[in-house]
Amino acid sequence: MCMNIPSTLTRRQTMKLLSLLGLGSQAAAPVAQAVAATDPWKLSEAEWKKRLTPAQFDVLREEGTERPGSSPLNAEKRKGTYHCAGCDLPLFSSDTKYESGTGWPSFHTPLAGALGTKTDYKAIFPRTEYHCVRCDGHQGHVFNDGPKPSGKRYCNNGVALTFKAAA
Ligand SMILES: [Zn+2]
Repeated sequence: MCMNIPSTLTRRQTMKLLSLLGLGSQAAAPVAQAVAATDPWKLSEAEWKKRLTPAQFDVLREEGTERPGSSPLNAEKRKGTYHCAGCDLPLFSSDTKYESGTGWPSFHTPLAGALGTKTDYKAIFPRTEYHCVRCDGHQGHVFNDGPKPSGKRYCNNGVALTFKAAA
């Protein structure tokens, strides 16, 4: 099927048009909104370098790993939310942070829909890398030795996060 929708239409207008044409459904609208909230960021390497500190760039864009124990967020105990340092998407609640003893901020559960994963082979054994779903910024690796209920350990680079204390 070929449809000629003017490119000047916004996503919302497009959805409305599709709906009027009987091609959308009521259920489609909330889905479209959820996707809009995490529309991927496409920045060039130069733009990221302007936006991030060198340490942040190394972790977020080059999948580097910070020195264990180096992040002030290891000791952060307040209630609040941990956001992606690249694009400010909320990734973890303080309710899911725990002391893993590794020297990296650790969480047992991410916020729903915040992360994507892929397998990386940088170590001798394959590991599951995870990243911010919006800007693709590398955050850390997830392991299966975390506490209940998830049993997961999201081992995060502190430099890839910003903490926002609950009001
Ligand atoms: Zn991000």
